[in-house]
Amino acid sequence: MKRIAVPIVVVLLLCVRGLAAQAPKVLPQADDRYKADILLVVAHPDDEGAATPYLARALDEGKRVAVVYGTRGSSGANEAGAEQAAALGEIREIEARRALETLGITNVWFLGGHDTASQNVLQSLANWGHGAALEQLVRLVRLTRPEVILTFLPGTFIGEDHGDHQASGVLATEAFDLAGDPATFPEQVAAPMRRLEPFLENLRPWQPKKIYYFPDADRDDIFRGKGPQYSVMEISKSAKQAYWRRALESFRSHQTQAKGFLDSISKMDEAQLEKMVLSDGGWTDELYFVLGKSAVAGGTPTGDIFEGITAAAIPYARPEPAPQPPQQELSAELAGPWDFYANFRRAHALTNLPHTETPEIALQASGSLVIPLWLRNVSPTAREITLSVTLPAGFSVLTGEGHFFVAPKQTAAARIEVNLPAIAENTSKKQDAQEITVRAESDGQVIGLVKLRVELRKRALPQ
Ligand SMILES: [Zn+2]
Repeated sequence: MKRIAVPIVVVLLLCVRGLAAQAPKVLPQADDRYKADILLVVAHPDDEGAATPYLARALDEGKRVAVVYGTRGSSGANEAGAEQAAALGEIREIEARRALETLGITNVWFLGGHDTASQNVLQSLANWGHGAALEQLVRLVRLTRPEVILTFLPGTFIGEDHGDHQASGVLATEAFDLAGDPATFPEQVAAPMRRLEPFLENLRPWQPKKIYYFPDADRDDIFRGKGPQYSVMEISKSAKQAYWRRALESFRSHQTQAKGFLDSISKMDEAQLEKMVLSDGGWTDELYFVLGKSAVAGGTPTGDIFEGITAAAIPYARPEPAPQPPQQELSAELAGPWDFYANFRRAHALTNLPHTETPEIALQASGSLVIPLWLRNVSPTAREITLSVTLPAGFSVLTGEGHFFVAPKQTAAARIEVNLPAIAENTSKKQDAQEITVRAESDGQVIGLVKLRVELRKRALPQ
């Protein structure tokens, strides 16, 4: 033993002397080419159009933009060719990439969710593979390290009715609250154990500083003034064109979705284009956002999106959930997406997120409406609940009224199905929303009144 101990000491000393002479090695850093100031999270190819007039402005100001789509947009009609379904999705991915490339945006990812023709955000989340999609989006937030996330408003309103649009807003909010937490998807933020590690990703946790929503709802009165707004008429310094015009140039790539429209505008002069694009249903002069929440001090809700934001990373901002409202011993409440969003706003501390006092939905006339309910019995004994419905003229109950037994300490799902009347084919008048009331009683006492406003339309997405 002694004979070899001496040479080992000599070798070690030589090594230490060698280390001292070397310059320190630079450890690998995050790739700056993928750093974003703004991460836009939307559902489908062409949804970016809701924000492109603002993105063009932000790019002029030197901001870096990355985009995530929930799906490749494989459903719907193809206006440019014969391809359908998955093949159409492959084309639409390229169209979306080209649309963004027009503005100079090339960091673009797709979560691989499937299009869901429904107003129900819960169905979209299920169809997208909620857990896997969230894991992927958290990865992309950690990869792009955005200062700000822009996304669809997570809520259900008349007009804000595509479940996929809402799902992108839900996922973006969840990722905002999780990407900075080192305990969430820890394999993403762990350093590799050996060279060419194929499992651990060596990303770092990242807390984005603000999240803003763009609402898609028909009425905008409850959303305006809740965040900044930007003129689409101002002239881009880099392109010498109005921002709406930059956005329109970008939109020209979406041939499979809008070839007819794009062909018709290709024949218009500038004045005609401006009149059409800024008319009702197009871009309004002011593009506005709703501040979801900010993890930085300073700034006002209506101030510029980057107000109060400095280059330095900030610590993880764990959301403080708002308290659950007190529960009655026996109750009947609206379930489904409306109940989900009430829980969602509390869980993500979105205390200022606008929502309507009475839940609402627009549905196709002559169809049906399902009113999902929770019947809750917190008491230690079984209870009987009676459900009855008050309806506007022409509406009728198909199923769901009557007496129900709810076991002790049980929350049971119930549903009422209502037939909707037709609307006259020749009427062009917009129908006013009408109120439906579900009354829940037990032992002669009213234990719940569930109200829902329903607007009938000639066409609407399925509930
Ligand atoms: Zn869409």
